[in-house]
Amino acid sequence: MSVRITDITVGYGSHAFPCCSHLIVGIFIIGSPDTFINKRRAIRLWDFTIHTCPHCPVGMTITGSHDTFVNLRKKTRIWDIVTEFCGIGICVTKSPNTHTNNR
Ligand SMILES: [Zn+2]
Ligand SMILES: [Zn+2]
Repeated sequence: MSVRITDITVGYGSHAFPCCSHLIVGIFIIGSPDTFINKRRAIRLWDFTIHTCPHCPVGMTITGSHDTFVNLRKKTRIWDIVTEFCGIGICVTKSPNTHTNNR
């Protein structure tokens, strides 16, 4: 299913400080300039989240559809992977009614 701006990611990361590691929750803040799903910008490969890691500011999608593209970038689906840069996460919220690759 399609992921949109303000959809959520959940991950895990560590910077090897005494407080680490951390559960990380992210929210997409960048999406397609011209492609909308449920009136929200479609998320693509390499779009960014801001996230809750106390040591680094953002996450970024690193997987997407093999055959569906938005702005020539792979379309992001639920369960696609984000790098938290200090760890790894997945997309966990999505459009209720728009599907890509049966997700
Ligand atoms: Zn920490
Ligand atoms: Zn971090």
